[in-house]
Amino acid sequence: MSKPSVGGLVATSCTKCKLELEHTIMAMVGDKIVRVKCRTCGSEHNYKDKTKKEAVRKRTTASAKRAVPVKNPERAWEEAMNKVTGADIPYDGTRSYKPGEVVAHPIFGSGVVLEASEKKVAVIFKDKARKLVSGN
Ligand SMILES: [Zn+2]
Repeated sequence: MSKPSVGGLVATSCTKCKLELEHTIMAMVGDKIVRVKCRTCGSEHNYKDKTKKEAVRKRTTASAKRAVPVKNPERAWEEAMNKVTGADIPYDGTRSYKPGEVVAHPIFGSGVVLEASEKKVAVIFKDKARKLVSGN
């Protein structure tokens, strides 16, 4: 794990895209990230402290759209990874993906596409399933 630094990448929720996405770190105070720029939509916003984000998430969990429900993500991920034969495709938010393809995400690692819909793709990673932005 490398320490965050200005110009580096951080995964955080984008206020515009409403998704957990890769952001470029624009400004830091001490070792805290204060401002980030979304690599998907290009909007700049303040970095939300994780503890704050967790609190918000707790409050909205009941009504919020859940990512793909997977009971045991690590096992589901292992099974999915065992089935795939293709090479890892580096994650790119402008590309479209098909179920069964392996996405190599710079932060989350390798994941398998479960579902692909318009502009979004559901990917199972080792720790949990996530929705990522995609092309068509
Ligand atoms: Zn965005």
